[in-house]
Amino acid sequence: MIGLGRFGFHLAGALTALDQTVLAIDRNPDRVQRWADTLDRVVQADATEEGVLRQLGVADVQRAVVAIGASVEASVLTVLALVELGVPQIWARATSAKHAKILASVGAHHVIFPEAETGERVAHLIISRMLDFIEFDDDFAIAKLPTPESLVGRSLRSLTPADRHGIRVVGAKVHGESFRYATEEMVLERGSMLIVEGGIAQVQRFATLD
Ligand code: ADP
Repeated sequence: MIGLGRFGFHLAGALTALDQTVLAIDRNPDRVQRWADTLDRVVQADATEEGVLRQLGVADVQRAVVAIGASVEASVLTVLALVELGVPQIWARATSAKHAKILASVGAHHVIFPEAETGERVAHLIISRMLDFIEFDDDFAIAKLPTPESLVGRSLRSLTPADRHGIRVVGAKVHGESFRYATEEMVLERGSMLIVEGGIAQVQRFATLD
């Protein structure tokens, strides 16, 4: 993990929670000191220097993430250094569409743009009753939302195509229990959470029902 700003630190913490061994690098000594007790291994170094990365053993890692955001120059030079070292999977964070293009053209294998991705996702949540939303390509989505009041007490079998608005209920969760896969016999209860899937527009429409 290169760059322990807000994004890099949270990502490093999430990877650690997933039992991954993380080597974190930041050139700022205050940042290194701040996270030294929280992350496995935190090193102060300038990641744009290929030789320094090599000394730290970065040539042997399977995956590297460049989480530097504010400095496009540092981010691009770091990706170049990782490409030179032959790191097999380079993930790089972009902070603008142009930055994303440059990262891909210098050899990043995966480019992420968290501000744009989160902004798009949260826009869907704000205008509907969805509590979570993931979209796949430009046409498919999965969402979590509370059961619409108009469908409370109905079994899935009894729902008409008009009731469904083109979506499919995949699972449901009654308060305090775990999610269960939906069956046609399942009766929708007030306050239970649904997982639904379908076209983005259909999911969005279903999520605005009262
Ligand atoms: P965020 O928006 O997630 O807070 P920033 O871009 O502000 O991200 O922070 C990026 C981090 O990357 C900072 O901690 C900074 O010290 C670090 N960083 C910037 N350039 C380099 C570099 N050349 N080598 C290592 N770390 C760097």
